[in-house]
Amino acid sequence: MPAERAPTPVIRPMVNRDSAYFWEGTRKGELRIQSCNACGALRHPPGPACPECGALDRGHVVASGRGTVFSYIVHRHPPVPGKELPIVIALIDLEEGVRMVGEVTDVADDEIEIGMPLQVDFNEVDDDLTLPIWTRVPEEGK
Ligand SMILES: [Zn+2]
Repeated sequence: MPAERAPTPVIRPMVNRDSAYFWEGTRKGELRIQSCNACGALRHPPGPACPECGALDRGHVVASGRGTVFSYIVHRHPPVPGKELPIVIALIDLEEGVRMVGEVTDVADDEIEIGMPLQVDFNEVDDDLTLPIWTRVPEEGK
């Protein structure tokens, strides 16, 4: 667990009625996945209606925080305010079966690979915003 991270300016995500539960979760150190209260299907990104059954009644579950890299990009250009480039952004297959985009913070751009196991961590930006970030899963026995 990284002890501390220098605060950097970030691009703030849109928080709306559909995604508020997600950001409430990250503030508590929870990675939340939207669920359908009618059929139980999980979905991400969040939306008002269940793509499986169309129900509007929604809740959420807390993810294990583990997943693997499904695909990734290395952002080298253009510059991002407050960020040192390159940034590794991965599409992560969560154990729960949904995919989530996130920044990978401790894997170099030439080390990231498809299938790499990652675990979530949280970057507390300020009182209002905590971003999920993804880090290497420590190897067994270390
Ligand atoms: Zn449903």
